[in-house]
Amino acid sequence: MPNILFAARSESWNDYETPLSTALDAAGLSYTLGTDMPPEEVDYIVYAPNSDVQDFTPFTRLKAVLNLWAGVEDVVGNTTLAVPLARMVDEDGLTQGMVEWVAGHTLRHHLGMDAHIVNPDRTWDATPPPLSAHRPVTILGLGTLGQACARALITLGFPVSGWSRSAKDLPGITTHAGDEGLHKALRDAQIVILLLPDTPATTNVINAETLALMAPGAMILNPGRGPLIDDDALLAALDSGQIGHATLDVFRTEPLPDDHAYWVHPKVTVTPHIASTTRPETAARVIADNIRRAENGEALLHIVDRSAGY
Ligand code: NAP
Repeated sequence: MPNILFAARSESWNDYETPLSTALDAAGLSYTLGTDMPPEEVDYIVYAPNSDVQDFTPFTRLKAVLNLWAGVEDVVGNTTLAVPLARMVDEDGLTQGMVEWVAGHTLRHHLGMDAHIVNPDRTWDATPPPLSAHRPVTILGLGTLGQACARALITLGFPVSGWSRSAKDLPGITTHAGDEGLHKALRDAQIVILLLPDTPATTNVINAETLALMAPGAMILNPGRGPLIDDDALLAALDSGQIGHATLDVFRTEPLPDDHAYWVHPKVTVTPHIASTTRPETAARVIADNIRRAENGEALLHIVDRSAGY
């Protein structure tokens, strides 16, 4: 009978206790679940990287850590963690939320909605927006979220290119990989969406050089992670007009400091890391299924490659 420790901010326990119990019951498991148990008796940790647990050494019989978040940059380098780390992949919750955020903000920029929503001079400019077929979109990161967003945008008619570390063959998407592939993916892109993890290899992937490859006036959406963007380079590109607008959900420091230039820049939209979030009901099912798999001797799903950092 596995002992499962819930190690996240204490206020999350209210949201997760019932969904986790329900999902573990439905998975046919006998278990103990709680927020406080002797470390040497814990088999699994349901984990948020901002929890008090930062030293895994006392958890001597730990079998796996099940991260509640998709991003693992705050735990992947923890040298006290010696067991498999699974990250959150939840098609019905986290992925669906990201698809909705990306589709909404892409359409906002594609259709030029802002000009009509705030129009104090009552300007009657009847120029129609182009059809989506004439608006090339590039997604950096073709993992769970990037691919799901690509499928949604393709359904809406956008030509979608994407970039990943490993070469891929994905229906309807023009794919690129590697350093040279990045330049090809960005060249003439009108809307660029960042869905890469935060690793040493992705830091500042959007910089003065890569910003200059995009079509003049390109829009950037960043629901990935703050360090993907060289902030000074982006601000300079916004000021010069090379970039038309940036909609940013994630930042190097969160909450975004009050005095940050992004808050007041007329071509920046700040959303407070709400592009997508882990939804307890659906995420609990993913976690319960992974614990069931481990208890049955099956391979865990969504294992993080600790050497790649994601
Ligand atoms: P994922 O499935 O691991 O996909 C990551 C993608 O990035 C993969 O296609 C991977 O390439 C590519 N990649 C990684 N390093 C690269 C590199 N050096 N060069 C080129 N491509 C590289 O992750 P996911 O579930 O889609 O999530 C992506 C990120 O979204 C998360 O890491 C997290 O930071 C962020 N996120 C944000 C929110 C929010 O609310 N704002 C919510 C959830 C997630 P391969 O396919 O070749 O491995």
